[in-house]
Amino acid sequence: MIQISQSCVGCGKCVSTCPFGALSIVNRKAVASAACTMCGACVSVCPMKALSLPASAAGAVKKDLSAYKGVWVFIEISDDGRTQKVRPVGFELLSKGRELADQLNEELCAVVIGDNVQNYVAELSQYGTDKIYAVSAPEYHTYNTLAYANALVTLIKKYNPSVVLFPSTYIGRDLSPRISSELFVGLTADCTGLSIKEGNLIQTRPAFGGNIMADIKCPDYRPQMATVRPNVFKKVVTTAGRMAQLVSETIPVPVEAGKVRVIETQMDPVSSDQPLDEAPVVIAGGRGMKDQEGFALLQKLATTLGGAVGASRAAVDMGFQPKEKQIGQSGVTVASKLYIACGISGAVQHIVGMEHSDVIIGINKDANAPIFNVCKYAIVGDAKQVLAKALEQLKK
Ligand code: FAD
Ligand code: SF4
Ligand code: SF4
Repeated sequence: MIQISQSCVGCGKCVSTCPFGALSIVNRKAVASAACTMCGACVSVCPMKALSLPASAAGAVKKDLSAYKGVWVFIEISDDGRTQKVRPVGFELLSKGRELADQLNEELCAVVIGDNVQNYVAELSQYGTDKIYAVSAPEYHTYNTLAYANALVTLIKKYNPSVVLFPSTYIGRDLSPRISSELFVGLTADCTGLSIKEGNLIQTRPAFGGNIMADIKCPDYRPQMATVRPNVFKKVVTTAGRMAQLVSETIPVPVEAGKVRVIETQMDPVSSDQPLDEAPVVIAGGRGMKDQEGFALLQKLATTLGGAVGASRAAVDMGFQPKEKQIGQSGVTVASKLYIACGISGAVQHIVGMEHSDVIIGINKDANAPIFNVCKYAIVGDAKQVLAKALEQLKK
């Protein structure tokens, strides 16, 4: 939090400069709230020089960038209570990371934290990975924010990578901001493009409600950190049969990680269903499905074809499906082999979340619905009737 010295006279000039509304005047003195992000915007406006950043934040001065080398990818291990495996988004990030590492002429490294991590070495090596940093111990079997963050910060401080990529999953979104704030570096969430320009990572992502694509760079600090949603990049096996160098590290779990203990894991009905972003077949429904009965038909078809049910935002807003099932700009991105859009108009915010699917079939009663622009097959008709017929045929 910003530091306020005794020389504050309560003039109030700093209050309106804070973009986070963290400053107020109490008893004729400036007071900062927990909303302070230590952005430093208020420091220069104080005529009394009463505002300063704490030494740790002020220490985030320009670094010698040449000391930072290597593109790192944090590999998430999924756990459904029975088996543990690498989440496919890890392979997608390694594939993109290979391109970035080649342009920077640096190594591509995977970082895996968990139990029996050596099981994943052969698989991770196939995506052009040069090195695998492994932190393996029974204490890391279950994800723990504090333990994992400590392990990653320790590794980053020891090896100084120039880029660290995280999946934009629940775990990646939980972990990456902790690490960036601990290291006082930037973090760009939900990137849709990554490239290298003049040695810097260009992190592209939609901004202002998707109306513009912003290119973000962090030229003065390292590592450059970004998160990317599953299915944004394609996975490309580049080095089948080659083995990456394994670097095993022992990092004790800090005592404070014990503040959080996982006592029991229960899969809820939504997440125990096939994960949407990994399903080969997605049957998605929109407002045009009208009611729960319509979504029951979608579920039947998904079960028959071994897929998962998804939804447009309108369908989620109407309570037909939980938020976890929303596909699009503010939901999940899918790239399934088969995508059937039922009663979905095809707004751009929905399209960006499914257009990379291999075969897209649209069912809509409106022959001019924009969804048909991205469909391989267009079925014009009442979605419930079409689905009922399809199920009948599949049964036969
Ligand atoms: P509608 O646009 O109402 O379309 C319903 C369709 O069903 C129509 O085409 C109609 O012809 C058809 N229909 C009606 N009856 C039948 C029938 N009996 N049989 C067959 N077809 C029928 N949307 C998302 O989906 N995902 C997102 O992540 C997302 N993020 C957003 C973020 C922002 C910042 C904003 C502003 C919007 C976002 N939206 C998102 C909302 C998006 O703009 C659309 O409003 C939404 O996708 C519309 O959902 P829909 O197609 O189900 O409904
Ligand atoms: Fe105090 Fe400086 Fe803020 Fe004025 S600008 S209220 S003197 S901290
Ligand atoms: Fe607000 Fe930034 Fe000053 Fe904190 S450092 S009080 S967030 S302007």
